Amino acid sequence: MAEPYLLAIDQGTTSSRAIVFDVAGKIIHLQQKELTLHYPQKGWVEQDANDIWDDTLSCLTQIADALGNDLSRVVAAGITNQRETTIVWDRETGEPVYHAIVWQDRRTAQHCQALNDAGHEEMITAKTGLLLDAYFSATKIAWILDHVEGARDRAEAGELLFGTVDSFLLWKLTKGAVHATDATNASRSMLFNVVTQEWDEELLALFDIPRSMLPDVYDNVADYGCIDSAYMGAEIPIGGVAGDQQAALIGQGCFDVGMVKSTYGTGCFALMNIGDDFKVSQHRLLTTVAYRFDGKVSYALEGSIFIAGAAIQWLRDGVGLFDDAANSEDLARSVDDNNEVYFVPAFTGLGAPHWKPDAQAMICGLTRESNAAHIVRAALEAQAYQTCDLMGAMEADGGVKPDVIRADGGLVANGFMCQFLADMLNMDIEIPAVVETTAWGAACLAGLSVGVFDSLDDVRDAWHADRHYEPAMHDDERARLYAGWQTAVSMLTRID
Ligand code: ADP
Repeated sequence: MAEPYLLAIDQGTTSSRAIVFDVAGKIIHLQQKELTLHYPQKGWVEQDANDIWDDTLSCLTQIADALGNDLSRVVAAGITNQRETTIVWDRETGEPVYHAIVWQDRRTAQHCQALNDAGHEEMITAKTGLLLDAYFSATKIAWILDHVEGARDRAEAGELLFGTVDSFLLWKLTKGAVHATDATNASRSMLFNVVTQEWDEELLALFDIPRSMLPDVYDNVADYGCIDSAYMGAEIPIGGVAGDQQAALIGQGCFDVGMVKSTYGTGCFALMNIGDDFKVSQHRLLTTVAYRFDGKVSYALEGSIFIAGAAIQWLRDGVGLFDDAANSEDLARSVDDNNEVYFVPAFTGLGAPHWKPDAQAMICGLTRESNAAHIVRAALEAQAYQTCDLMGAMEADGGVKPDVIRADGGLVANGFMCQFLADMLNMDIEIPAVVETTAWGAACLAGLSVGVFDSLDDVRDAWHADRHYEPAMHDDERARLYAGWQTAVSMLTRID
């Protein structure tokens, strides 16, 4: 019999994709559609939920066409998605009552501030592991119920459903048969108690959300129903779901306590596996569900850096220092050191562990000898300094110093950045052979659901490094550079 294939549906913030993998992680087919973001007001970020569905469906039908008879080799599908993005739709018609409110949307910041002022953050963090912030779904759902005419009444009458993108796609793919999500996505709603693994009545009351809107919460590997045969010409079982960062953790095989994956794309998200003990961070990191298999939960500490590759994009498009992001490497290498130039890319404030939402970006330490190469080098070095900040907080919280970080995302194409990361962290950096770690994580869940993989050990064994970087920097040099960065961060302010 021909070797089986696994299908990953990877619905991200900027694009919707479908990827067919073989069991070794090789990409057989990939389809992608760019997704439009709408910015109707300052701080608002929306997507048309029907576009999310149409684009996903179009990727799937193109995959079916490309595979032809080989479609029968696709034994299961997994879904991974942009997290927190909130959709409310009609239980009968499937029609969304409002655009999807994207995770980046800040319209509910005041609602969060009011709840914070009323002293609710501690209770919320103790139950959800999250900080009280507009980023998560709860206040976005409340906003839709309060601002779309008739929505609250309809929700209370049981006519409306809520879901993150995974739930919405599941509901559509199964023609309304399944209204479910997985524990990782649920853990980003701010309504889910990650300790008891249940929707929390106290939180539902606080945010005023009717229980009847919420999906059932399944393990990451579960029977999520089937992609209806009308869509790809064959019925395909959906065996796994996970939010994008957790899917990457799985795809990177980080199943042991202390293992870390760090994704360097537009922003950077680092997750450390902390095992089955729920711990609230003392350093304003998030505690989140890493994965849940057979009802057993593992948690992760998560730190987000808002601007990673986006700083390189800005130097390319905003300043015009080079035409292609890849040129940043030669430029950085063309100078011996940073010449004490530091670039703190706080374009949208500074995230964990600093949480300076109002800060603005800064390039400092300039002298007459400074040139474009120093600035480019400083932007790449900033990725490592920001990761050092996060790892310091994670170690202080989790008490584990990892030996190695598994890195992925577009920026890891930059060898200078990877080596500098190893040098500054004083840790090995491993780059996986399967670069599409998020989609691969979803495919692995699908594989586990049908026995293509027997256990997590099989997923772990399927992981291979393509390259690795070892630290090669003197301790004094590392301390001197990091002290410079800390000085730069301490000088951040807002100029109004
Ligand atoms: P996302 O998934 O967030 O859209 P990607 O993982 O595709 O992002 O990474 C794209 C980012 O990586 C861009 O911001 C780009 O500037 C940066 N990037 C890509 N290649 C390089 C490179 N060789 N050197 C530096 N930055 C790079």
